[in-house]
Amino acid sequence: MNNNIEISFLGAAGTVTGSKYLIKTHQKNILVDCGLFQGIKKLRLLNWEELEINPSLIDVILLTHGHLDHVGYLPKLVNAGYKGKIWGTSPTLEVAEIILQDSARIQEEDAKRANENGYSKHNPAKPLYTSEDVKNTVPHFSPQPPDEWLKIDDDIHCRFRYNGHIIGSTFIELKIGKKLLVFSGDIGREVDPLMYAPKKPEEATVLFIESTYGGRLHPRNSEDNLASIINNSFEKKGIVIIPSFAVERTQMLMYLIWQLRKTGKIANIPVYMDSPMGNKVLDIFLNNTNWHRLSADQCKEMCREIRCVKTVKDSVKLVADNSSKIVIAGGGMGSGGRVLNYFQKYLEDPSATILLVGFQAEGTRGRQLLEGANEVKLYGKYYTVNASIENLQGLSAHADQKELIDWLSLLKQKPEYIFIVHGEPQSADSLRVKIKDVYGWNSIIPSLNQKIDV
Ligand SMILES: [Zn+2]
Repeated sequence: MNNNIEISFLGAAGTVTGSKYLIKTHQKNILVDCGLFQGIKKLRLLNWEELEINPSLIDVILLTHGHLDHVGYLPKLVNAGYKGKIWGTSPTLEVAEIILQDSARIQEEDAKRANENGYSKHNPAKPLYTSEDVKNTVPHFSPQPPDEWLKIDDDIHCRFRYNGHIIGSTFIELKIGKKLLVFSGDIGREVDPLMYAPKKPEEATVLFIESTYGGRLHPRNSEDNLASIINNSFEKKGIVIIPSFAVERTQMLMYLIWQLRKTGKIANIPVYMDSPMGNKVLDIFLNNTNWHRLSADQCKEMCREIRCVKTVKDSVKLVADNSSKIVIAGGGMGSGGRVLNYFQKYLEDPSATILLVGFQAEGTRGRQLLEGANEVKLYGKYYTVNASIENLQGLSAHADQKELIDWLSLLKQKPEYIFIVHGEPQSADSLRVKIKDVYGWNSIIPSLNQKIDV
Protein backbone atom coordinates (compact mmCIF):
# COMPACT_ATOMS: atom_id res chain seq x y z
CA MET A 1 0.00 0.00 0.00
CA ASN A 2 1.14 3.51 -0.80
CA ASN A 3 1.25 5.35 2.54
CA ASN A 4 1.49 8.82 1.13
CA ILE A 5 -1.06 11.33 2.39
CA GLU A 6 -1.41 14.69 0.70
CA ILE A 7 -3.07 17.50 2.62
CA SER A 8 -4.46 20.57 0.87
CA PHE A 9 -5.36 23.57 3.00
CA LEU A 10 -8.41 24.84 1.10
CA GLY A 11 -9.58 27.20 3.84
CA ALA A 12 -8.97 28.54 7.36
CA ALA A 13 -5.28 28.81 6.50
CA GLY A 14 -3.95 32.27 7.36
CA THR A 15 -7.52 33.27 8.23
CA VAL A 16 -10.36 32.14 10.51
CA THR A 17 -13.12 31.23 8.07
CA GLY A 18 -13.60 28.80 5.19
CA SER A 19 -12.41 25.64 7.04
CA LYS A 20 -11.70 22.93 4.45
CA TYR A 21 -8.93 20.36 4.55
CA LEU A 22 -8.63 17.90 1.71
CA ILE A 23 -6.92 14.65 2.62
CA LYS A 24 -5.88 12.58 -0.38
CA THR A 25 -4.80 9.01 0.20
CA HIS A 26 -4.16 6.20 -2.22
CA GLN A 27 -7.72 4.93 -1.68
CA LYS A 28 -9.89 7.87 -0.72
CA ASN A 29 -10.31 11.64 -0.93
CA ILE A 30 -11.67 12.94 2.36
CA LEU A 31 -12.75 16.49 3.06
CA VAL A 32 -12.72 17.61 6.69
CA ASP A 33 -15.14 20.53 7.14
CA CYS A 34 -16.64 22.43 4.26
CA GLY A 35 -16.91 26.01 5.45
CA LEU A 36 -17.76 29.32 3.90
CA PHE A 37 -15.26 32.19 3.75
CA GLN A 38 -16.73 35.19 5.56
CA GLY A 39 -15.66 38.78 6.24
CA ILE A 40 -13.77 41.06 3.86
CA LYS A 41 -14.58 40.94 0.17
CA LYS A 42 -11.26 39.37 -0.79
CA LEU A 43 -12.20 36.40 1.40
CA ARG A 44 -15.84 36.20 0.31
CA LEU A 45 -14.75 36.10 -3.32
CA LEU A 46 -12.88 32.87 -2.57
CA ASN A 47 -16.28 31.17 -2.24
CA TRP A 48 -16.75 31.68 -5.98
CA GLU A 49 -13.48 30.02 -7.00
CA GLU A 50 -13.40 26.41 -8.13
CA LEU A 51 -11.85 23.90 -5.79
CA GLU A 52 -8.66 22.18 -6.91
CA ILE A 53 -10.54 18.87 -6.95
CA ASN A 54 -13.66 17.97 -8.90
CA PRO A 55 -16.28 17.57 -6.12
CA SER A 56 -17.46 14.27 -7.63
CA LEU A 57 -14.04 12.82 -6.75
CA ILE A 58 -14.42 13.49 -3.00
CA ASP A 59 -15.56 10.28 -1.24
CA VAL A 60 -16.76 11.54 2.14
CA ILE A 61 -17.02 14.78 4.12
CA LEU A 62 -16.49 14.87 7.89
CA LEU A 63 -17.82 17.83 9.87
CA THR A 64 -16.43 18.98 13.22
CA HIS A 65 -19.49 21.16 13.98
CA GLY A 66 -22.38 23.05 12.45
CA HIS A 67 -21.12 26.65 12.27
CA LEU A 68 -21.28 28.40 8.89
CA ASP A 69 -17.52 28.73 8.56
CA HIS A 70 -17.32 24.91 8.82
CA VAL A 71 -20.38 23.81 6.80
CA GLY A 72 -21.45 26.80 4.70
CA TYR A 73 -19.88 25.66 1.43
CA LEU A 74 -21.70 22.28 1.34
CA PRO A 75 -24.63 23.30 -0.93
CA LYS A 76 -22.20 24.78 -3.45
CA LEU A 77 -20.23 21.52 -3.43
CA VAL A 78 -23.36 19.39 -3.87
CA ASN A 79 -24.49 21.67 -6.67
CA ALA A 80 -21.10 21.16 -8.31
CA GLY A 81 -21.47 17.37 -8.29
CA TYR A 82 -20.57 16.03 -4.83
CA LYS A 83 -22.22 12.60 -4.50
CA GLY A 84 -20.97 11.19 -1.18
CA LYS A 85 -22.15 11.19 2.40
CA ILE A 86 -21.70 14.01 4.89
CA TRP A 87 -20.78 12.69 8.34
CA GLY A 88 -21.16 14.50 11.66
CA THR A 89 -22.80 13.96 15.03
CA SER A 90 -26.56 14.13 15.05
CA PRO A 91 -26.82 17.62 16.67
CA THR A 92 -24.10 18.90 14.31
CA LEU A 93 -26.17 17.93 11.29
CA GLU A 94 -29.34 19.38 12.84
CA VAL A 95 -27.50 22.66 13.45
CA ALA A 96 -25.95 22.55 9.97
CA GLU A 97 -29.35 22.25 8.31
CA ILE A 98 -30.65 25.34 10.14
CA ILE A 99 -27.47 27.31 9.38
CA LEU A 100 -27.53 26.39 5.69
CA GLN A 101 -31.19 27.29 5.24
CA ASP A 102 -30.48 30.67 6.78
CA SER A 103 -27.34 31.17 4.70
CA ALA A 104 -29.20 30.43 1.45
CA ARG A 105 -31.99 32.79 2.43
CA ILE A 106 -29.57 35.62 3.26
CA GLN A 107 -27.72 35.14 -0.02
CA GLU A 108 -30.94 35.09 -2.01
CA GLU A 109 -32.19 38.22 -0.26
CA ASP A 110 -28.87 40.04 -0.69
CA ALA A 111 -28.78 39.24 -4.41
CA LYS A 112 -32.40 40.37 -4.80
CA ARG A 113 -31.81 43.59 -2.89
CA ALA A 114 -28.62 44.32 -4.84
CA ASN A 115 -30.53 43.88 -8.09
CA GLU A 116 -33.41 46.12 -6.93
CA ASN A 117 -31.10 48.87 -5.68
CA GLY A 118 -28.57 48.42 -8.45
CA TYR A 119 -25.56 48.45 -6.10
CA SER A 120 -23.99 45.22 -7.28
CA LYS A 121 -21.10 45.26 -9.74
CA HIS A 122 -22.32 41.92 -11.06
CA ASN A 123 -25.32 42.19 -13.28
CA PRO A 124 -27.54 40.53 -12.31
CA ALA A 125 -26.25 39.66 -8.82
CA LYS A 126 -26.52 35.94 -8.12
CA PRO A 127 -26.66 34.07 -4.81
CA LEU A 128 -23.77 31.66 -4.17
CA TYR A 129 -26.43 28.99 -3.68
CA THR A 130 -30.16 28.76 -3.16
CA SER A 131 -32.63 27.12 -0.75
CA GLU A 132 -33.07 24.46 -3.43
CA ASP A 133 -29.36 23.61 -3.20
CA VAL A 134 -29.74 23.24 0.58
CA LYS A 135 -32.70 20.89 0.05
CA ASN A 136 -30.47 18.79 -2.20
CA THR A 137 -27.68 18.79 0.41
CA VAL A 138 -29.61 17.50 3.44
CA PRO A 139 -30.19 13.95 2.03
CA HIS A 140 -26.38 13.52 2.04
CA PHE A 141 -26.32 13.95 5.85
CA SER A 142 -25.47 10.78 7.73
CA PRO A 143 -25.44 11.15 11.55
CA GLN A 144 -22.64 9.29 13.36
CA PRO A 145 -22.23 8.37 17.04
CA PRO A 146 -19.47 10.01 19.10
CA ASP A 147 -16.50 8.08 20.55
CA GLU A 148 -16.75 5.09 18.17
CA TRP A 149 -14.24 4.20 15.49
CA LEU A 150 -16.11 4.29 12.19
CA LYS A 151 -14.90 2.62 9.04
CA ILE A 152 -14.38 4.73 5.93
CA ASP A 153 -12.33 2.11 4.06
CA ASP A 154 -9.98 -0.78 4.83
CA ASP A 155 -7.34 0.90 6.95
CA ILE A 156 -9.15 4.27 7.15
CA HIS A 157 -11.25 4.98 10.24
CA CYS A 158 -12.48 8.07 12.02
CA ARG A 159 -13.84 9.03 15.42
CA PHE A 160 -15.83 12.08 16.60
CA ARG A 161 -15.00 13.30 20.11
CA TYR A 162 -16.73 15.91 22.29
CA ASN A 163 -14.93 19.25 22.31
CA GLY A 164 -17.41 21.56 24.05
CA HIS A 165 -17.51 24.43 21.51
CA ILE A 166 -21.22 24.28 20.55
CA ILE A 167 -23.91 21.64 20.72
CA GLY A 168 -22.79 18.55 18.80
CA SER A 169 -19.26 19.83 18.20
CA THR A 170 -16.30 17.47 18.17
CA PHE A 171 -12.70 17.12 17.27
CA ILE A 172 -12.05 14.41 14.68
CA GLU A 173 -9.48 11.65 14.74
CA LEU A 174 -8.76 10.19 11.31
CA LYS A 175 -6.64 7.05 11.29
CA ILE A 176 -5.06 6.26 7.94
CA GLY A 177 -2.84 3.19 8.17
CA LYS A 178 -0.51 3.88 11.08
CA LYS A 179 -0.94 7.64 10.92
CA LEU A 180 -3.40 9.47 13.14
CA LEU A 181 -4.59 12.84 11.89
CA VAL A 182 -6.34 14.95 14.55
CA PHE A 183 -8.49 17.93 13.60
CA SER A 184 -9.26 20.09 16.63
CA GLY A 185 -12.33 21.77 15.11
CA ASP A 186 -13.15 24.82 17.23
CA ILE A 187 -12.23 24.03 20.81
CA GLY A 188 -14.59 25.04 23.63
CA ARG A 189 -13.90 26.40 27.10
CA GLU A 190 -12.56 24.51 30.07
CA VAL A 191 -15.34 26.03 32.21
CA ASP A 192 -18.62 26.96 30.56
CA PRO A 193 -22.15 27.33 31.95
CA LEU A 194 -23.71 25.29 29.13
CA MET A 195 -21.10 22.93 27.71
CA TYR A 196 -18.92 20.31 29.36
CA ALA A 197 -15.13 20.59 29.19
CA PRO A 198 -13.56 19.45 25.90
CA LYS A 199 -12.05 15.98 25.65
CA LYS A 200 -8.38 16.00 24.69
CA PRO A 201 -6.36 13.94 22.20
CA GLU A 202 -3.80 11.50 23.60
CA GLU A 203 -2.04 10.78 20.34
CA ALA A 204 -1.50 12.49 17.01
CA THR A 205 0.85 11.99 14.10
CA VAL A 206 -0.50 15.09 12.40
CA LEU A 207 -2.31 17.69 14.46
CA PHE A 208 -4.46 20.54 13.13
CA ILE A 209 -5.13 23.08 15.87
CA GLU A 210 -7.35 26.14 15.68
CA SER A 211 -5.93 29.49 16.81
CA THR A 212 -8.89 31.90 16.82
CA TYR A 213 -7.69 33.20 20.20
CA GLY A 214 -4.15 31.84 19.94
CA GLY A 215 -2.68 35.07 21.26
CA ARG A 216 -5.18 36.04 23.90
CA LEU A 217 -6.45 35.20 27.35
CA HIS A 218 -10.15 35.68 28.02
CA PRO A 219 -11.11 37.80 31.04
CA ARG A 220 -12.78 35.69 33.73
CA ASN A 221 -15.41 38.04 35.20
CA SER A 222 -17.72 38.34 32.22
CA GLU A 223 -20.94 37.73 34.15
CA ASP A 224 -20.31 40.75 36.40
CA ASN A 225 -19.43 42.83 33.34
CA LEU A 226 -22.63 41.75 31.62
CA ALA A 227 -24.64 42.82 34.69
CA SER A 228 -22.99 46.25 34.86
CA ILE A 229 -23.43 46.94 31.12
CA ILE A 230 -27.12 46.06 31.40
CA ASN A 231 -27.58 48.16 34.56
CA ASN A 232 -25.83 51.19 33.00
CA SER A 233 -28.00 51.05 29.94
CA PHE A 234 -31.10 50.67 32.10
CA GLU A 235 -30.16 54.01 33.72
CA LYS A 236 -30.14 55.60 30.24
CA LYS A 237 -33.65 54.13 29.73
CA GLY A 238 -32.41 52.66 26.49
CA ILE A 239 -32.56 49.41 24.64
CA VAL A 240 -29.72 46.87 24.83
CA ILE A 241 -29.22 45.09 21.52
CA ILE A 242 -27.09 41.97 21.62
CA PRO A 243 -26.22 40.66 18.16
CA SER A 244 -25.74 36.99 18.74
CA PHE A 245 -24.92 33.80 16.90
CA ALA A 246 -28.02 31.62 16.92
CA VAL A 247 -26.08 28.58 17.98
CA GLU A 248 -25.07 28.38 21.61
CA ARG A 249 -24.19 32.09 22.12
CA THR A 250 -27.90 32.91 22.09
CA GLN A 251 -28.77 30.10 24.51
CA MET A 252 -25.80 31.07 26.69
CA LEU A 253 -26.92 34.71 26.84
CA MET A 254 -30.48 33.65 27.61
CA TYR A 255 -29.15 31.47 30.41
CA LEU A 256 -26.84 34.15 31.89
CA ILE A 257 -29.41 36.96 31.71
CA TRP A 258 -32.05 34.65 33.20
CA GLN A 259 -29.63 33.85 36.08
CA LEU A 260 -28.74 37.54 36.60
CA ARG A 261 -32.43 38.41 36.85
CA LYS A 262 -33.16 35.49 39.15
CA THR A 263 -30.40 36.53 41.55
CA GLY A 264 -31.40 40.22 41.45
CA LYS A 265 -28.09 41.34 39.90
CA ILE A 266 -30.03 43.15 37.17
CA ALA A 267 -33.42 44.84 37.28
CA ASN A 268 -36.51 43.05 36.09
CA ILE A 269 -36.21 44.39 32.51
CA PRO A 270 -38.10 42.56 29.76
CA VAL A 271 -35.84 40.28 27.78
CA TYR A 272 -36.54 39.09 24.24
CA MET A 273 -34.88 36.64 21.94
CA ASP A 274 -35.56 37.68 18.37
CA SER A 275 -34.00 35.04 16.17
CA PRO A 276 -35.93 32.41 14.23
CA MET A 277 -32.76 30.32 14.15
CA GLY A 278 -32.20 30.84 17.87
CA ASN A 279 -35.65 29.31 18.43
CA LYS A 280 -34.84 26.30 16.27
CA VAL A 281 -31.52 25.74 18.00
CA LEU A 282 -33.30 25.94 21.35
CA ASP A 283 -35.29 22.91 20.19
CA ILE A 284 -32.03 21.08 19.45
CA PHE A 285 -30.95 21.87 23.03
CA LEU A 286 -34.24 20.46 24.33
CA ASN A 287 -33.87 17.29 22.27
CA ASN A 288 -30.20 16.63 23.06
CA THR A 289 -29.86 17.14 26.82
CA ASN A 290 -26.91 14.69 26.99
CA TRP A 291 -24.83 17.14 24.93
CA HIS A 292 -24.99 20.04 27.46
CA ARG A 293 -25.40 20.85 31.14
CA LEU A 294 -29.01 22.14 31.20
CA SER A 295 -31.81 19.81 32.18
CA ALA A 296 -35.03 19.74 30.17
CA ASP A 297 -36.79 21.53 33.08
CA GLN A 298 -34.20 24.29 33.15
CA CYS A 299 -34.56 24.76 29.39
CA LYS A 300 -38.32 25.11 29.80
CA GLU A 301 -38.11 27.55 32.72
CA MET A 302 -35.63 29.70 30.80
CA CYS A 303 -37.97 29.78 27.81
CA ARG A 304 -40.84 30.96 30.01
CA GLU A 305 -38.75 33.83 31.45
CA ILE A 306 -37.38 35.08 28.16
CA ARG A 307 -39.87 35.96 25.46
CA CYS A 308 -39.06 34.30 22.18
CA VAL A 309 -40.21 36.36 19.19
CA LYS A 310 -41.60 34.07 16.53
CA THR A 311 -43.17 35.99 13.66
CA VAL A 312 -41.81 38.77 11.42
CA LYS A 313 -44.81 40.90 12.43
CA ASP A 314 -43.91 40.62 16.13
CA SER A 315 -40.28 41.38 15.31
CA VAL A 316 -41.24 44.55 13.41
CA LYS A 317 -43.39 45.63 16.39
CA LEU A 318 -40.54 45.01 18.80
CA VAL A 319 -38.07 47.01 16.68
CA ALA A 320 -40.47 49.96 16.60
CA ASP A 321 -41.03 49.98 20.38
CA ASN A 322 -38.14 51.89 21.98
CA SER A 323 -38.95 51.21 25.62
CA SER A 324 -36.17 49.91 27.85
CA LYS A 325 -35.47 46.24 27.21
CA ILE A 326 -32.87 43.68 26.27
CA VAL A 327 -33.05 42.06 22.86
CA ILE A 328 -30.84 39.17 21.87
CA ALA A 329 -31.11 39.34 18.08
CA GLY A 330 -29.88 36.95 15.42
CA GLY A 331 -26.77 37.92 13.45
CA GLY A 332 -23.60 37.55 15.54
CA MET A 333 -21.21 39.74 13.58
CA GLY A 334 -23.83 42.16 12.25
CA SER A 335 -23.56 40.69 8.76
CA GLY A 336 -27.16 39.51 8.46
CA GLY A 337 -30.22 38.45 10.40
CA ARG A 338 -32.86 40.39 12.32
CA VAL A 339 -30.25 42.42 14.19
CA LEU A 340 -29.85 44.60 11.08
CA ASN A 341 -33.37 45.98 11.58
CA TYR A 342 -32.36 47.02 15.10
CA PHE A 343 -29.16 48.58 13.74
CA GLN A 344 -31.18 50.62 11.23
CA LYS A 345 -33.41 52.00 13.96
CA TYR A 346 -30.96 52.31 16.90
CA LEU A 347 -27.39 52.91 15.64
CA GLU A 348 -28.07 56.66 15.64
CA ASP A 349 -29.87 56.60 19.03
CA PRO A 350 -27.55 57.72 21.89
CA SER A 351 -29.70 55.99 24.53
CA ALA A 352 -29.21 52.59 22.87
CA THR A 353 -26.45 50.14 23.69
CA ILE A 354 -25.07 47.59 21.26
CA LEU A 355 -23.39 44.82 23.14
CA LEU A 356 -20.97 42.71 21.12
CA VAL A 357 -20.18 39.22 22.32
CA GLY A 358 -17.85 36.71 20.75
CA PHE A 359 -15.56 36.88 17.76
CA GLN A 360 -16.05 39.66 15.17
CA ALA A 361 -14.33 38.71 11.91
CA GLU A 362 -12.44 41.22 9.77
CA GLY A 363 -14.71 43.12 7.40
CA THR A 364 -17.91 42.58 9.36
CA ARG A 365 -20.05 45.40 10.81
CA GLY A 366 -19.45 43.92 14.25
CA ARG A 367 -15.72 44.38 13.77
CA GLN A 368 -16.20 47.96 12.53
CA LEU A 369 -18.27 48.81 15.61
CA LEU A 370 -15.74 47.11 17.86
CA GLU A 371 -12.96 49.23 16.31
CA GLY A 372 -14.91 52.44 16.95
CA ALA A 373 -16.27 53.23 13.47
CA ASN A 374 -18.10 56.58 13.33
CA GLU A 375 -20.46 55.36 10.66
CA VAL A 376 -21.57 52.02 9.32
CA LYS A 377 -23.01 51.12 5.94
CA LEU A 378 -26.26 49.20 5.85
CA TYR A 379 -28.17 48.31 2.67
CA GLY A 380 -26.18 50.88 0.68
CA LYS A 381 -26.74 53.73 3.18
CA TYR A 382 -24.48 55.17 5.91
CA TYR A 383 -25.62 55.43 9.55
CA THR A 384 -23.83 57.50 12.19
CA VAL A 385 -22.97 55.48 15.27
CA ASN A 386 -24.40 57.32 18.30
CA ALA A 387 -25.33 54.23 20.30
CA SER A 388 -22.88 53.07 22.98
CA ILE A 389 -20.83 50.14 21.78
CA GLU A 390 -19.86 47.65 24.45
CA ASN A 391 -17.80 44.52 24.10
CA LEU A 392 -18.15 41.58 26.43
CA GLN A 393 -15.09 39.43 26.00
CA GLY A 394 -15.17 36.47 28.33
CA LEU A 395 -18.24 34.88 26.73
CA SER A 396 -16.38 33.40 23.80
CA ALA A 397 -17.17 29.82 22.77
CA HIS A 398 -13.50 29.46 21.81
CA ALA A 399 -10.65 28.33 24.02
CA ASP A 400 -8.12 31.06 24.73
CA GLN A 401 -4.35 30.63 24.49
CA LYS A 402 -4.02 28.90 27.86
CA GLU A 403 -6.91 26.54 27.10
CA LEU A 404 -5.46 25.73 23.65
CA ILE A 405 -2.10 24.93 25.24
CA ASP A 406 -3.83 22.78 27.89
CA TRP A 407 -5.71 20.92 25.16
CA LEU A 408 -2.35 19.51 24.02
CA SER A 409 -1.36 18.40 27.51
CA LEU A 410 -2.41 14.75 27.23
CA LEU A 411 -0.39 14.05 24.07
CA LYS A 412 2.09 11.34 24.97
CA GLN A 413 4.48 12.22 22.17
CA LYS A 414 5.31 15.16 19.96
CA PRO A 415 3.22 15.00 16.79
CA GLU A 416 5.30 14.71 13.60
CA TYR A 417 3.46 17.72 12.21
CA ILE A 418 1.51 20.46 13.95
CA PHE A 419 -0.48 22.73 11.66
CA ILE A 420 -1.83 25.92 13.17
CA VAL A 421 -5.01 26.87 11.36
CA HIS A 422 -8.22 28.87 11.82
CA GLY A 423 -6.63 32.09 13.06
CA GLU A 424 -5.61 35.51 11.81
CA PRO A 425 -1.83 35.63 11.21
CA GLN A 426 -0.92 37.26 14.53
CA SER A 427 -2.97 34.81 16.62
CA ALA A 428 -1.59 31.82 14.75
CA ASP A 429 1.96 33.03 15.27
CA SER A 430 1.42 33.74 19.00
CA LEU A 431 0.20 30.18 19.43
CA ARG A 432 3.19 28.86 17.46
CA VAL A 433 5.60 30.68 19.79
CA LYS A 434 3.73 29.52 22.91
CA ILE A 435 3.68 25.86 21.81
CA LYS A 436 7.44 26.10 21.24
CA ASP A 437 7.94 27.71 24.69
CA VAL A 438 5.79 25.25 26.64
CA TYR A 439 6.41 21.96 24.78
CA GLY A 440 9.47 22.69 22.65
CA TRP A 441 7.57 21.62 19.53
CA ASN A 442 7.83 23.30 16.12
CA SER A 443 4.60 24.06 14.26
CA ILE A 444 3.76 25.06 10.71
CA ILE A 445 1.35 27.83 9.78
CA PRO A 446 0.15 26.72 6.35
CA SER A 447 -0.93 29.24 3.74
CA LEU A 448 -4.12 29.03 1.72
CA ASN A 449 -4.08 26.28 -0.94
CA GLN A 450 -0.71 25.00 0.26
CA LYS A 451 -0.18 21.25 -0.18
CA ILE A 452 1.88 19.24 2.26
CA ASP A 453 2.71 15.52 2.10
CA VAL A 454 2.83 13.74 5.43
ZN1 LIG B 1 -17.31 27.34 15.41
